[in-house]
Amino acid sequence: MARNITIIGAGIVGIATASYLRRDGHAVTVVDSRPPGEYCSFGNAGILSPGSCAPQAMPGVLFKVPGYLRDPLGPLAIRPGHFFKALPWFLQLVAASRRSRVEQIADALRPLLKQTFDAYEPLVRNAGVADMIRQTGYVVAYATRAGLQNDALPWKLRRDRGVLMEELDSAGIKQKVPQLGGHYQAGLYLPEQGYVTNPERLTKSIAAQFQRDGGHILQRTVLDIEVSPDGPRALVTDAGNMAVETLVICAGSHSNEFSAKWGDDVPLEAERGYHVTYSDPKFTLPMPVFLPEQKFFVTPMEMGLRIAGQSEFAGNDAEANYARADVLATQMQKVFPGISSVDSTKWMGRRPSMPDSLPVIGPASTMPNVWYAFGHGHVGLCGGAPTGRALADLIAGRPPSVDLQPFRVTRF
Ligand SMILES: Cc1cc2nc3c(=O)[nH]c(=O)nc-3n(C[C@H](O)[C@H](O)[C@H](O)COP(=O)(O)OP(=O)(O)OC[C@H]3O[C@@H](n4cnc5c(N)ncnc54)[C@H](O)[C@@H]3O)c2cc1C
Repeated sequence: MARNITIIGAGIVGIATASYLRRDGHAVTVVDSRPPGEYCSFGNAGILSPGSCAPQAMPGVLFKVPGYLRDPLGPLAIRPGHFFKALPWFLQLVAASRRSRVEQIADALRPLLKQTFDAYEPLVRNAGVADMIRQTGYVVAYATRAGLQNDALPWKLRRDRGVLMEELDSAGIKQKVPQLGGHYQAGLYLPEQGYVTNPERLTKSIAAQFQRDGGHILQRTVLDIEVSPDGPRALVTDAGNMAVETLVICAGSHSNEFSAKWGDDVPLEAERGYHVTYSDPKFTLPMPVFLPEQKFFVTPMEMGLRIAGQSEFAGNDAEANYARADVLATQMQKVFPGISSVDSTKWMGRRPSMPDSLPVIGPASTMPNVWYAFGHGHVGLCGGAPTGRALADLIAGRPPSVDLQPFRVTRF
């Protein structure tokens, strides 16, 4: 049965979901205060990693945090004013880092992310941008063999779930990515992974095709949602009220501002990350590189080379602190000495992060005709199209090809 569906959020998750719902013949309208792909989906590292099923928090995370926070070039920052607000989220993150729980999380994430190339394929083909998706694999590089050994568990979680990887020594790393020089002693090559050459253009291109296929996108800020016991009735927006029937919340790090209204007060943090894009670096890379000791990716994009990483907890509204992007630029100089920073640009984006690294996908707990697709944290680009396809299946009453139980909103 075709429905009238309204989606809040035109990030990659909202746009991929809109496209799959439109393919099912629903009347679909996306509402966002910004044009498509201009919030977190604008500036990510572009990685499509069907193997990224290991959660962010591993056993022992509690002991690593103080070291990260003390290191001025470290990957983690918590603004003092936000610490107590984020404390319950961090406690849930620590609870999710138990060995038994990380195995369950990896079991849930792998089938979703495994579908990334397959789920994007019809969307990018239809939009005429299939060439933006590259399945080159990526290289992981460690300064020392001990570094790789310290990360044995996250790699084992992936390997146990069928993620292909090849061990590399110093010469092997240099052979795959000659630009890395000889500083790295141990590493991995993951051949099935890939990337998008421009995440913003990907979202905009799929959005434009969605509109050509009869979908609607309205630029409005949603201020509130009017509800009745039978479901949502209207969006209260800065341009007046809009009647709604079926509602999908894909509002990224703002999603719980809506879901809390009917009691789904989920733990969602804006985990802020940064990038620096070098538009004329004077060289490129054959594939992305991940440096796990500093927790950043360097990706060859159509705009140049992009380094992306950092986790800063400061809430949705605090101003960006571009000193965190400068940390990335300093790391970039260390990895690629002499890289030209002429015309480089800096950016901050808010990952919609759940403490257990699992998104929320499925129906609202008590409000009829409301569905969720948010909270993808570090893997929202990768998980966007698989999520959209699974949610469209659920709304159509078809059994989704992924078990969505682990992603239910009531798990907290
Ligand atoms: C530095 C960095 C690197 C990353 N690298 C990768 C990577 O390599 N691979 C990967 O898979 N993921 C990566 N991610 C994560 C990924 O970017 C996110 O998970 C993803 O973009 C989330 O998409 P989304 O559609 O849920 O949210 P968003 O893109 O944030 O979209 C949410 C939309 O909701 C709208 N909205 C919110 N509130 C309202 C309102 N009240 N009214 C109207 N509209 C509203 C916003 O304007 C926004 O457009 C990275 C993130 C960062 C920060």
